[in-house]
Amino acid sequence: MSHGAEQPSPSALAALAQSLRGNFDVAETARRLYATDASAYQEMPLAVAFPADDNDLATLIRFAVEHGTSLIPRTAGTSLAGQVVGGGIVVDVSRTFTKILAINASEGWVRCQPGVIRNELNMALAPHGMLFGPETSTQNRAMIGGMLGNNSCGSNSIRYGSVRDHVLEITALLSDGSKVVFKALNAEEFEAKCQGPDTLETRLYQHICALLSDPAAREAITREFPKPDIPRRNTGYALDLLMDATCFDPASEKSFHFGKLIAGSEGTLCFVTEVKLRCNPCRRRFKSGK
Ligand SMILES: Cc1cc2nc3c(=O)[nH]c(=O)nc-3n(C[C@H](O)[C@H](O)[C@H](O)COP(=O)(O)OP(=O)(O)OC[C@H]3O[C@@H](n4cnc5c(N)ncnc54)[C@H](O)[C@@H]3O)c2cc1C
Repeated sequence: MSHGAEQPSPSALAALAQSLRGNFDVAETARRLYATDASAYQEMPLAVAFPADDNDLATLIRFAVEHGTSLIPRTAGTSLAGQVVGGGIVVDVSRTFTKILAINASEGWVRCQPGVIRNELNMALAPHGMLFGPETSTQNRAMIGGMLGNNSCGSNSIRYGSVRDHVLEITALLSDGSKVVFKALNAEEFEAKCQGPDTLETRLYQHICALLSDPAAREAITREFPKPDIPRRNTGYALDLLMDATCFDPASEKSFHFGKLIAGSEGTLCFVTEVKLRCNPCRRRFKSGK
């Protein structure tokens, strides 16, 4: 979530630290520790925040907008291409947003916060006869927020697909600090979103409706995007996966879901606070977190 290049003053950062319930660190040691991920890239962030709750996140977002800096959401920091490296404020949710909020075995889903480790999620799901299929080589430390951000998958992707294929709902904060829930919408529900009150959420739906209703834009997306039969590609925003929804093509049976765009967007569109994920049936007991 980036809003410009100017840097806030030390006094503004100190006031921000005072206004948060969670920790906020501007010390060089912390900034050096968070200057890289699992990639070769390095850049000193302005500060590192450890938000305690959604209110802290909203405060951080408003600060970033007001002071023209950026927020870099971070979970385990195992990204390989500098996804959590930058000159703004790194926001580490791996310590506090760690709850599994609900498991529903009869409907086959789990709702959790972004800081839940993938293998620990599966240890909790196993007694319910379920697993979350997408895995990475880093599955014993990679977290759901980061897996969603990178649209992760691994050696079982032929069977289980990537994280995008499992997203049922995403709860997130937008760049004005407002909280929204993104979920699958049929044509009537999508239209109702576009006709909603004058909020940022409504404007997002109106904007995507105008863009993906434009024949020239649709033609350019079809022409320029990777082939649809390539199951995992994170080169840019997956706009092509939104435009085949029933709200744009009455012959389609697919619903519209902003979650398809958020998956793989590398923390650039919104700050995710909860995810509801479709689970797979699991016949054998999950053995190890290692
Ligand atoms: C040895 C090694 C092997 C790997 N193997 C694989 C593999 O097999 N498959 C694979 O897909 N990847 C692989 N990776 C890359 C990486 O481990 C995965 O992409 C992993 O899922 C990232 O999870 P993380 O918790 O470390 O995310 P992070 O690196 O912390 O974040 C990843 C992205 O998600 C965003 N993000 C995090 N939390 C939020 C939030 N709350 N709201 C919005 N955005 C958020 C971040 O800003 C960032 O853009 C590998 C990495 C290493 C080092």
